[in-house]
Amino acid sequence: MDNNDYMSHNRKMWNIVKDEYQNSPIIPLCEIGNRGLYVNAEGVLFPCSWTSFPYHSLTYENKTIQWEDSFFAMYRDRMNLRNRSFEEIINDPLWNHCSNGWKDPSKSWVECSQKCNSNVVNEEYAVGWETN
Ligand code: SF4
Repeated sequence: MDNNDYMSHNRKMWNIVKDEYQNSPIIPLCEIGNRGLYVNAEGVLFPCSWTSFPYHSLTYENKTIQWEDSFFAMYRDRMNLRNRSFEEIINDPLWNHCSNGWKDPSKSWVECSQKCNSNVVNEEYAVGWETN
């Protein structure tokens, strides 16, 4: 896939995803493909790199997540490619913890609310290079 194919694929996915999430608090860039699936140096597979950073705490509006409650801290062994195959990890129901929050603010991860909030996601943010 060359750069033009990549961008046109992203624009096509943007149109699909923005329609699906038009009334949602989050427009998930990982569903578009410009973001999504990140492996850190330890072998942990994440929904995206934004969910991988080992911060002490992260706050967005009225929600705060502490390091010990983060995806990285809680699931680093379960979601580690050294311990399980890619197929096992990608089919783990744990991913639903993330995606269930895209349409339900009470379940949204702080990272998703901050980085993929519908207030900040537009076409350029979703398909281009501004997010990297
Ligand atoms: S922050 Fe959340 S919604 Fe956005 S790309 Fe990462 S996992 Fe997906």
